[in-house]
Amino acid sequence: MKHLNAITISIGDELLSGKTLDSNNAFISKQLDVIGVSVIKKIIIGDIAQDIKDSLDWAFAQADVITLTGGLGPTHDDITKSVLCDYFDVGLKLYPDLLENLKDRFARRGFKFSESNASQAEYPDNAALLENPFGTAQGMYIEHDGKHLFVMAGVPREMEVVTTGQIIPILSQLTQASISKVDIHSIGVPESTLYELSKPVLDEYPDLKIAYLPKQGMVTIRVSFQSKSPDEDQKLKDEIYGRIRDLKPKNIYGRNEEVLPVLIGKLLKEKHATVATAESCTGGLVASLITDISGSSDYFQTGFVTYANETKMSMLGVQKRTLIEHGAVSEETVSEMLSGTLRKSGADYAVAISGVAGPTGGTEEKPVGTVYIGVADMGHQNIKRFQFGKNRILNKEMSAYSSLNLLRLLIEDTNQ
Ligand code: AMP
Ligand code: MG
Repeated sequence: MKHLNAITISIGDELLSGKTLDSNNAFISKQLDVIGVSVIKKIIIGDIAQDIKDSLDWAFAQADVITLTGGLGPTHDDITKSVLCDYFDVGLKLYPDLLENLKDRFARRGFKFSESNASQAEYPDNAALLENPFGTAQGMYIEHDGKHLFVMAGVPREMEVVTTGQIIPILSQLTQASISKVDIHSIGVPESTLYELSKPVLDEYPDLKIAYLPKQGMVTIRVSFQSKSPDEDQKLKDEIYGRIRDLKPKNIYGRNEEVLPVLIGKLLKEKHATVATAESCTGGLVASLITDISGSSDYFQTGFVTYANETKMSMLGVQKRTLIEHGAVSEETVSEMLSGTLRKSGADYAVAISGVAGPTGGTEEKPVGTVYIGVADMGHQNIKRFQFGKNRILNKEMSAYSSLNLLRLLIEDTNQ
C-alpha cells in the first residue's frame, strides 16, 4: 500500500470573511481519511489569481494529492479555470457534448444562453473531467509531476458527489488502501478518562490507529486498521467493540450508526413500546432527536414542552405545592412530570427534563448547568441530577443526549 499525503484548498472571498463556513475542506478530509490519505494541511484563500498559484506551488511541493474547490461558476469572480491554464501553460478545450447539454438545459428552463454560460463547456486541456451530475461545472483531474490535483465546484452538494463518486475511487486504487474502521460511542465520560480506560485494551493490538473524537460532551473512539479480509475485519471489530463497551457499559453504548436516537428506536421497536417526553430547559430537543429517525412514528407518542410552571401544572398535573416547595428544577418536579407524561400520553416510557440552562438563572443551591433528568416506565422512575457547564446550547444538548442514555439503560434493564 502506498501512503499518500494531501493538502486541501478552498477558494472564495466569502470563506475568508466568514459569510460562508468552509465545510468543503472538512468533508473532503473525512473522506480521504477513510481511505488512509492523510490531510496534512488545509488552505483557505480568496478569489485571487496569484494566491491560487502560490498555494498550488506550495501544495505541490509538499503533498501527493491536492484538492481545490470553488471559483468554478460562470461569473467574473470564478477564475479557477483561467488560473489553471496559466499555471500549467495550457489552453482551454471545448467539449461539444457538454455545450449541447448546456444549451438543452437552458432551453428546457426557458433561460437565455449566454457566452459566460458557454464557458461551462470549456476546461483546461490537461484535465480529465469528473462528472458532476448536480451542476454544470464538471470536476477536473490533473496529473502533474506524479502528483494528483482534483478541482471541483464550491457548491457543497456538487463537491460531495464528485468527491465520493469520482475522486475517492481513483485514490483508493492508487493507495490500494482498504481501511476497516469502527466508531465506538460514549457519553458522560471525559475524553481523558476514556483514553486512560481504553488504552490498555487498545494497546494489545499493535496496528490500530486510534482517534478520540469529542462532540457535545460525548466522545467517539474511532479505531481503524489495515483491512485483511471481510471476515477477519469483522471479527476484530466485534472483539474490540465488545471489550471497550464492557469497560463501562453504562456510558459506552453503541457503534457506527448506532447513535442514541437510533438505538432508542431499535430498542423500542423490539419491545413494541412507545415513549413520550416532557421537556423544560431542552425546549423539545429530545423529541426532535427522537424524531430525526425515520420510522419514529412507530414509537414516539408525544412531546410536551412545558417551559412555564403553569403548563407543568395544566398539561402534566405537577402540583403547585411541589413547585413552591422544591422549585421547577428539582427531583420532585421531574418525578411528577414523569408520572403526568405517562398518564396523559399512554406511552410505555417517559422522559422528563428540568434544569437551569443558563447563562443566567443559577442559584447557590442550583447553579447554572444543574439539570434533573428522569426516565420512567409503569414500574420505575430513575431521576438523576447532572451538573453541566455554563454554555446554554451545550447544556441543552448534553441534557437531551443524557436523557436518551438513561432511557436506553431503563429499556435495556427491563429487557433482561
Ligand atoms: P463557487 O464554485 O466558488 O462559485 O461556489 C459556489 C457556492 O458554493 C457558493 O455559494 C459558495 O459560497 C459555496 N462554497 C464555495 N466554497 C465552499 C466551501 N469551501 N465550503 C462551503 N461552501 C462553499
Ligand atoms: Mg466562489
